[in-house]
Amino acid sequence: MKRLFFLSFLLALAALLPSFFARHEVALAAVAPPQQSAAARQSALPAVSMIGLDASMRICALVEGAPVYMSLEDFILGAMAAEVPAEFEPEALKAQAVAIRTFVLNRMNSAPFEEHLGAVVCDDPGHCMAYIPFERMLSAWGSNADAYAIKFRQAVSDTGGMVLLYDNEPIQAVFFSCTGVYTEDSGDVWECDLDYLKSVESPLTEDAPDYLGRVEIDPDQFKESFLKTYPKAKFSGGVENWFSDYALSRAGAVISLSVGGVKVSGSQLRAMCSLNSANFTVCEENGRLVFYTVGRGHGVGMSQYGANELAKQGYTCEQILKTYYTGVAIAKYNPDELGAS
Ligand SMILES: [Zn+2]
Repeated sequence: MKRLFFLSFLLALAALLPSFFARHEVALAAVAPPQQSAAARQSALPAVSMIGLDASMRICALVEGAPVYMSLEDFILGAMAAEVPAEFEPEALKAQAVAIRTFVLNRMNSAPFEEHLGAVVCDDPGHCMAYIPFERMLSAWGSNADAYAIKFRQAVSDTGGMVLLYDNEPIQAVFFSCTGVYTEDSGDVWECDLDYLKSVESPLTEDAPDYLGRVEIDPDQFKESFLKTYPKAKFSGGVENWFSDYALSRAGAVISLSVGGVKVSGSQLRAMCSLNSANFTVCEENGRLVFYTVGRGHGVGMSQYGANELAKQGYTCEQILKTYYTGVAIAKYNPDELGAS
């Protein structure tokens, strides 16, 4: 009798089990998002560059103040997304991918920066370059996410492993937003004067955002903040007398000038007054100090909007890169030669 009871208990339990799993499945389905997230869409996209150097090499990047490990491919994608609009021409996007890859490999071969906390590269555009996690950008792109992601991935894939070399070393492939007629000589902007970062002609990019800029400052406020850094400065007479002894670059940017009798670099004044570029003029308008700027960024290396203009004119990625980086070779990256794993 007992055995019969036990048998019927087992049969009842067996009958209950399928309904238990069925209910569990329903519960899982109920918590799934009604629509695919941007990140899920990303993983569903064709993985055009999931093998090779970019996908296999791991790098450490300082992102929002914390070191983050990721593939070189993910860094290039995130940096491209933060640096240039998705509407850019494919050849300009490819040039940008090569410049970012080269920049990172150059950093890997250089002495580390203390402020990087052990990372190779950081997401500060004033120091290395802008970066945003690609999945976050996909969400921001909304309905365009799939098309833009394919475009960016294609640019990375089409240039897979391609780098810019000078003397067989990856170069400091710096870039900036836009400039006037010429880019800057590295020696006019920084202490290092590199043969491959010379002033070159760049196409007009008047449609670029911030091509022309204007910053208005209260003269007393300017005087006060300048004296905090340079206490020996003497401001007398009208505002027009405060600035003199301009030394200009070929591109028209201020290499140095005298402010209140103190010599400063154009880059220093640019940083102090939050100007778009060191290519500026200053005047007095209605009792205010007004700076007018041309271009955005330090002006050295590749102009991003200039690269896009060249791409519109039919330049290839290689031609764009050779326009902005003087005398470089474009080659496939060789990890053994560069000492990377
Ligand atoms: Zn950095």
